[in-house]
Amino acid sequence: MRKPYLETQPDENGYFGKFGGAFLPPMLEEPFAQIQKEYQKLKNDPAFIEELKYVRKHYQGRPTPISFAKNLTEHCGGAKIYLKREDLNHSGAHKLNHCMAEVMLAKHLGKKKVIAETGAGQHGVALATAAAYFGLECEIHMGEVDIAKEHPNVVRMKILGAKVVPATHGLKTLKEAVDSAFGEYMETYEESLFCIGSVVGPHPFPMMIRDFQSVVGHESKEQFFERESKLPDHVIACVGGGSNAMGIFAGFIDDDVELIGVEPMGKGEKLGEHAASLTYGEEGVMHGFNSIMLKDAEGEPAPVYSIGSGIDYPSVGPEHAYLSSIGRTKVGLCNDEESVDAFYKLSQLEGIIPALESAHAVAYAMKLAKTLPSDKTILINLSGRGDKDIDFVVDNYDVPDAKF
Ligand SMILES: *Cc1c(COP(=O)(O)O)cnc(C)c1O
Repeated sequence: MRKPYLETQPDENGYFGKFGGAFLPPMLEEPFAQIQKEYQKLKNDPAFIEELKYVRKHYQGRPTPISFAKNLTEHCGGAKIYLKREDLNHSGAHKLNHCMAEVMLAKHLGKKKVIAETGAGQHGVALATAAAYFGLECEIHMGEVDIAKEHPNVVRMKILGAKVVPATHGLKTLKEAVDSAFGEYMETYEESLFCIGSVVGPHPFPMMIRDFQSVVGHESKEQFFERESKLPDHVIACVGGGSNAMGIFAGFIDDDVELIGVEPMGKGEKLGEHAASLTYGEEGVMHGFNSIMLKDAEGEPAPVYSIGSGIDYPSVGPEHAYLSSIGRTKVGLCNDEESVDAFYKLSQLEGIIPALESAHAVAYAMKLAKTLPSDKTILINLSGRGDKDIDFVVDNYDVPDAKF
């Protein structure tokens, strides 16, 4: 019998085909090898697995349900649309699935502090939540410009007990926050763990984060089968770094199910107006791994943009680059306008306010549903709730008349 896909990728050096690997400064090779070794041990340790299950059930609120979007389905007039409700996780998004596990790993490694960078603050809030629960120190690096823009998340992190460190050099946004966080980690790696926020970064992070998120796919598969006595025809998720997408894809990768990752087209096709890395990017190394990335004229990571601040990343997890290169996954596109339209439609038709990131997947699913007969089914990973986006949306886009 063929081995399940998840046991075959990545290889022992962290490569998915030619993508992935670990491009590290020499002094970090040893600490990363230790992380890898500890993870291999914990992955099969019944006590670790039990603790993670306990936390997910009694603290995070798992399993999250899948909901049939009856009104949205009728509105589109085609395939049946289901939602995997990751918006119902404690703290409002799928990110806690990996943050809780990363902080547990930090504890097992004997570290007393977790460090990360954050752009819009979502990863920072999730990690601060997990660190509070497990009693570890948490230090979040964030560009000064983002600190001013994302005030509510900065306040949340502070309330949760995290230290927020402003990155004050260069453009003072995500790239500088990465530099700053990495600098702190280089100085303190003996007592701290750098907790990456998606299926990106040097090996073993893309693999670990995928494994931690795969609970979404495994739950979905069982829940969907219970409802429909078959598997979905299409599974759709938005892709920034790609953790929520890899999580739900993991449940269906060996099955005859079409997997679609939706990339943000932002405002247009010009470099700087979107963050559609797989669609417009080329092979290259950034942030310690080889993947498909958007480059500027100098070959450096290009500026990117999306209305969904959690998906404006100039590259994509190496496993997405691989799966797309072998044709196992498909890339979909959605621009700002379509995302806002889906944001309002899901709110008014289903009573669910989605994150603008997740609304990209909803928008693509709505377009696809219309082209399919009613015996076909679509499952969307609704990665997060939209409370964080409400002020921005109503300030910039009129609330539509409820009878579309
Ligand atoms: C952070 C975030 C994303 C993007 O991250 P991935 O790693 O691509 O999943 C998507 N949706 C929400 C709600 C987020 O907070």
